[in-house]
Amino acid sequence: MPIPQPAGLRGTPETMPEPARLAAELTELAALREPDRPGWTRRVFSDPDRAARSWVADRMRQAGLRVEVDAAGNVVGTLPGAVGGGAALVSGSHLDTVDGGGRFDGMVGVLGALEAARCLQAGGRPLRHDLRVVSFCGEEPNEFGLSCVGSRAVAGTLTAEHLALTDPRGRTLAAALAGAGGDPERVGQAAWRPEALHAYCELHIEQGPRLEAAGVPIGVVPAIAGLHRCRVSFTGRADHAGTMPMTRRRDALCAAAEWILALEASAQDGVGVATAGRVMVAPGAVNVVPQSAVVSAEVRSVDAAWLAARHPRLEAAARAAGRARGVEAVLRWLSSEAPTLCAPAVQAAVRAAAQHRGLQTLDVPSGAGHDAVPLAHLGPVGMLFIPSREGRSHCPEEWTDLGDIVTGVALLLDTLRQLDGVPDCRAPRPAA
Ligand SMILES: [Zn+2]
Repeated sequence: MPIPQPAGLRGTPETMPEPARLAAELTELAALREPDRPGWTRRVFSDPDRAARSWVADRMRQAGLRVEVDAAGNVVGTLPGAVGGGAALVSGSHLDTVDGGGRFDGMVGVLGALEAARCLQAGGRPLRHDLRVVSFCGEEPNEFGLSCVGSRAVAGTLTAEHLALTDPRGRTLAAALAGAGGDPERVGQAAWRPEALHAYCELHIEQGPRLEAAGVPIGVVPAIAGLHRCRVSFTGRADHAGTMPMTRRRDALCAAAEWILALEASAQDGVGVATAGRVMVAPGAVNVVPQSAVVSAEVRSVDAAWLAARHPRLEAAARAAGRARGVEAVLRWLSSEAPTLCAPAVQAAVRAAAQHRGLQTLDVPSGAGHDAVPLAHLGPVGMLFIPSREGRSHCPEEWTDLGDIVTGVALLLDTLRQLDGVPDCRAPRPAA
């Protein structure tokens, strides 16, 4: 289905992305999907994923960028700057999707950065810095249990342990990467030096409902949520569901249910979100009192102190839920990723660019992870969001109007120009 064209912003090729080209490219990319999966599925290392990466490399070459595919499968297109050779401005995102995903999450950021590079060339007024347009390999969670494969490699944080992770068929991540044109032996060479990054700015769909609800076209991302995951094992006793009186049961699933409600209650202050996405019950028979229930849960917030405070609270809730029912409760934290703060210089550049075009912005912290998170290990990062219809994402209904995409790309272009003039994007406060 073609993406319809908008009415909207106007300008010269130097200042405005070309809506028809963006629409055509989004439509072409959407056609590269796994035919036997729902929606617009293009999982990392699948044939359509490989095809999409070689498609975008061709597009970059046609746009006059110098293209390199690194050992981690990232496609990097460089537009040389007037000074060039030193720290680069970087923009990009990913082309892989979740199973049953949509046509915009990631794609908009890659095509937007490429279109911004074309506008810079059309103007004949290059940036001082080199501009690197990057299609990062494998951003979405995959069967190996690792997201942001390519951006981790660029940040130098993709480890041998990561490469040894296996999918349910026992294939290693290293083997999958090798099969998709990468080189796991040389993955260390994909890492950039921190001095190589002037600033990273990623255009992305919001994947939530705030911009649409506020009627604001551009979101400035102050921070990307940190994510803590835990597993709680409740162990009670299996008994006959017909003969054991209610007063004498040790029902593990009922204890788990109490804890899940306590988890929900722990995130009602608007500072973070909490989700129990999986419960495994054993023996799992309709006529047996559950002996064990294992809950996998996560909390996310851009507030590190809030995340830390969930630990004692949820541990106490697990003990209380277990004690009340004679059920043993053991909570283990499996991972704790800190929030990523976006650089003040990048946020200021987005706001200044929006003001210049007379566009309103809204601060929208990101609840979802992005390639910007690993990149923050290297230097200053930031993101700008455009609206998602009804806040839907990671589903076939995911939608952003082309007019909003064009506005986002125009703002990305202006933001890159702004950042090009900032002497040091690492400075704690942007120059006035
Ligand atoms: Zn994404």
